[in-house]
Amino acid sequence: MAKFYQQSLAERHATLIAEQRLTAAQIEQLKAAAIIAPEVADSMIENQIGQFPLPLGLAFNFLIDETSYVVPMVTEEPSVIAASSNAAKIVQANGGFTTTIQERAMIGQLIFTDVSDYEAAILVVQEKEAALIEIANAAQPSLVKRGGGLRRIETRIITDDDHQPAYFTVHLVVDVQEAMGANMMNTILEATATPLKEWLDSAVLMQILSNFADTSLVTATCRIEPHTLTTTRFEGEWLAKRIAEATRYAHLDPYRAATHNKGIMNGVDAVVLASGNDTRAIEAGAHAFAVRDGRYRGLSDWKVAENGDLVGQLTLPLPVGSVGGAISVLPLAQLTQQILGISTANKLARVIVSVGLAQNLAALKALVSEGIQKGHMSLQVKSLALSAGATESELPLVVAALLENKQLNLENAHTIIAQLRQK
Ligand code: NDP
Repeated sequence: MAKFYQQSLAERHATLIAEQRLTAAQIEQLKAAAIIAPEVADSMIENQIGQFPLPLGLAFNFLIDETSYVVPMVTEEPSVIAASSNAAKIVQANGGFTTTIQERAMIGQLIFTDVSDYEAAILVVQEKEAALIEIANAAQPSLVKRGGGLRRIETRIITDDDHQPAYFTVHLVVDVQEAMGANMMNTILEATATPLKEWLDSAVLMQILSNFADTSLVTATCRIEPHTLTTTRFEGEWLAKRIAEATRYAHLDPYRAATHNKGIMNGVDAVVLASGNDTRAIEAGAHAFAVRDGRYRGLSDWKVAENGDLVGQLTLPLPVGSVGGAISVLPLAQLTQQILGISTANKLARVIVSVGLAQNLAALKALVSEGIQKGHMSLQVKSLALSAGATESELPLVVAALLENKQLNLENAHTIIAQLRQK
């Protein structure tokens, strides 16, 4: 019998049934969840047996650089979309988010071993710069035609734990235009590695892009008049000061910073995923950026300005694309691009960083006041009831019963549903 990876989709399904991993009915369930053409899904990943839908929702109230956006978000976590919409509403009432992009380029690394003279190696790279640019651009002519290509070359001497030179690394900084650029970059790196290795008379350890994309930094800022933060129970000025203090704390304590940043990434990842971009690349870049000065810190900054306004800022490396990778393949990525109403990577990055800042504001505002659990509760109870098997008509009754007896666990949800069905 053919190995699993050699089997067709139908054969893989038959194998799963034969091995009693899934029933025929469950295979039908898998088939019903698929919207990507099976041959396309098969070309995207290995050993494909089906597709895994996640909820797609919309966040509202995003005013970014004087343009309004409805933001598609894909997430399995309750409260994320409501929280970002709520925070975006506050920011909207204060004039919205302002964003800036310093540069949009991808870094590729050529890592060399066996370099005997590091200073001489730097000189070789400087001398060969024009030749390297020519080789790199010849490897991706279509990119050059679109206005992109190799922009600059940087050299780095990487030291070991005893501060001794250990590796010689060349960075190629490439303008990848509308793509995320991973594959394009790897093509360019492969083309340049061989001649460079000969010129340096050394060996290549590897050539690969860097996900620490600090050449693709995007910043969102917003200014909030404290009275617009006021809730029925908490005064805005007090909340603004507490939010600023919570940010300061996240700059000092990595245990808190990790959670602070996870909250930001709740929003960021949801938009990245909805747009068909690579969430792991964005996560890796964000966390590397958070520890850039040697101490892992909160990524955002909230301060109370002299006039009392709460001023927020978030900078993230966001090497996202509007074409290429899975973006052009996933049917729903086209649809979410349409809802968002933008078709450039530049604008997508501006939206993503603004969502991250909104998500952070919502989380901090809740944490420094009534706590996160209250807002989360009703949605979590709902998903608990659903996972216990409550039908649409049973849902409100099960949610009410769970909230009333306060034992929020699956066993209790099952008991409530069973009692309801006996009546
Ligand atoms: P692709 O390999 O799909 O390359 C981009 C494609 O978009 C090219 O075919 C290019 O066409 C086309 N294109 C059309 N219009 C434009 C335009 N205006 N600007 C730029 N390109 C255009 O995608 P990427 O190189 O972006 O790679 C992204 C994928 O790589 C992601 O799926 C990611 O998961 C994966 N990846 C990530 C890694 C990492 O993060 N470490 C490592 C390896 C892969 P043409 O060919 O004509 O130039």
